[in-house]
Amino acid sequence: MADGTTRANEERLWQTLMDLAKIGATPGGGVGRIALTEDDRKARDQFVAWCKEAGCDVRVDRMGNIFARRPGLDADRPPVMTGSHLDTQPLGGRFDGIFGVLAGLEVVRSLNDAGIDTVAPLDIVVWTDEEGVRFSAGMVASGVFAGKYDLDYGLGIVDGDGVTFGEALKTIGYAGTEDVGGIPVEAFFEAHIEQGPILENDAIPIGVVLGAQGQRCFRVTVEGEEGHAGTLPMEMRRDAMLGAARMIDAINGIAFQYDPHPVITVGLVNVRPNSPNTIPGQVYFSIDSRHPDNDTLKAVEADMRAACETIAGDGGYGLDVELVSERESTVFHRDCVEAVADAADTADLPYREIYSGAGHDACNLALCAPTGMIFVPCEGGISHNERENARPSDLAAGCTVLMHAMLNRAGVA
Ligand SMILES: [Zn+2]
Repeated sequence: MADGTTRANEERLWQTLMDLAKIGATPGGGVGRIALTEDDRKARDQFVAWCKEAGCDVRVDRMGNIFARRPGLDADRPPVMTGSHLDTQPLGGRFDGIFGVLAGLEVVRSLNDAGIDTVAPLDIVVWTDEEGVRFSAGMVASGVFAGKYDLDYGLGIVDGDGVTFGEALKTIGYAGTEDVGGIPVEAFFEAHIEQGPILENDAIPIGVVLGAQGQRCFRVTVEGEEGHAGTLPMEMRRDAMLGAARMIDAINGIAFQYDPHPVITVGLVNVRPNSPNTIPGQVYFSIDSRHPDNDTLKAVEADMRAACETIAGDGGYGLDVELVSERESTVFHRDCVEAVADAADTADLPYREIYSGAGHDACNLALCAPTGMIFVPCEGGISHNERENARPSDLAAGCTVLMHAMLNRAGVA
């Protein structure tokens, strides 16, 4: 029987996380384990060894995704999957991605300890190269699995030295033979640190993730006229920097006109000629806008464009606003969201609903399978950083919720 007393082993989960963090450890206490490097191979080998010890069968597909299966009683049932990634940023942390993979392992170990069998098989998955550091395009391997990208595209991506993804997989011995995706999946769950401050602020251990924000990024170019800083009177100027500054302020104000607020960031500004005594003739700046609702995101875009056009018209500026990238928002499957919330209730753990501010492999999986995510707090909301940290009790709570959500979907034998 599985009830609220069936819980993840906090100490074992923590120890396993700390053991894996030794591979690619950085002096600052983090992890630098870039995908498809020697350290990635070592981490994968260690994970596979642990899974085999726990009684799993391990398969690898042609994108290097690893599937460790704990058999169910009915081999014909599609698997309930969980997983995340083992690669990190160059100066990354010990938990981003890794927690989701090792939480899956801990689920299997805990079920083994409790003597609980499931009807459907359980798969622990490692998605290759989530971070996209070396190949500068992340989440491609889970995207190929979900049918978002072709296999040829995935294997053909090149790094800065012209090495293809496929070649790099062979080098580390993880160019598997299994077809990528195209199989039924009963459900996919990804446990992850929040990478933001909300759960910690609220002192709540579990985030039931409703979806992930969509993102639209722009490049705005403001054309004015260069001139001598000493000789051109103020009223005769077309200072592109001033126009850009007014636009940036207006764009920021637009965020506060919506509830919930979109998050809008201008993080890059280029000024020409960028000289202290020349009036700027051209400024280009970036806009990153995100919101959980695609329609809202498009309304925000229209507002931002209108505000920039008005300011450009008033100041006599030339203006170009170019959409440079877009990602649709993700809405996770109701059944999976409910399974996560029910699991938290079963384990008597407080939770709140939350949206993911970042992209995750689960966003790709949502394209091909019922998908849900579980967030746990991380210290100060800090992630993609060597100082990334999380409490063992919160990680274990997330793992316990993951286990009950998976049992819900797989069926206890
Ligand atoms: Zn991650």
